Amino acid sequence: MSFAATIADSLLAIAFPRECRCCGRQVERRADGVACENCWSAYRFFTGSETACAKCGLFLGEAETMFETFCRKCDDHAYGLARSAGPYRGPAAAEVINLKTNPHLSIRFQKAASIAFADSFREGADLLMPVPLSRKRFVERGYNQASVIAGFLGRSSGIPVDEASLQRVVDTPHHRAGMDRKARDLSVRNAFKVVRPKLTAGRSIILIDDVLTSGSTASYCAKALTKSGAARVDVFTLARAA
Ligand SMILES: [Zn+2]
Ligand SMILES: [Zn+2]
Repeated sequence: MSFAATIADSLLAIAFPRECRCCGRQVERRADGVACENCWSAYRFFTGSETACAKCGLFLGEAETMFETFCRKCDDHAYGLARSAGPYRGPAAAEVINLKTNPHLSIRFQKAASIAFADSFREGADLLMPVPLSRKRFVERGYNQASVIAGFLGRSSGIPVDEASLQRVVDTPHHRAGMDRKARDLSVRNAFKVVRPKLTAGRSIILIDDVLTSGSTASYCAKALTKSGAARVDVFTLARAA
């Protein structure tokens, strides 16, 4: 880090003393976002050497394996591969939560996610597509957090971002109390629509989102895109929930 950046960060820390969202200590570097250096150092991004589902990327164990392993829960999901920068915990979880109210991701996470993205999709793709929000939620929030992610991944990879072709036509409550996985699944089933099928037909597309949990939302997006002619649909998220 340059001396000027260090001074700027010290001044920022004086002006806006900020507590790490994970441990409560002070965040000293702006580039670290909402978590401190200690918490980031203790966090492990995926390296590709851990055992994970070969399709959906679900973490299955630390040890490396010689065989392709599948979790089997994602067998009927409509995407090809789903990959993430790291597990949904610690500083990564704090950043994902922060991104829902503040359209900014730390430089540290952006760099790590760009590397994970490039390693996961060496053959590239034709388009990046953020998983869309409903019109109602977009108006409430003022931005789509998945578009923030697609934006920096588009810049680092050179792959164009298409935010218009896929739309969410049904508003799905994200965390409604008492809504189990099955009910949530039903409510997103018909939520997505491809409004510009000519632009997506024959294309290989990577869907971008903040966190992959059950994978059902990404799968329904992929289904809509494949139905309208997309050649291939993969998924990349910042974080992977267990
Ligand atoms: Zn911390
Ligand atoms: Zn899987």
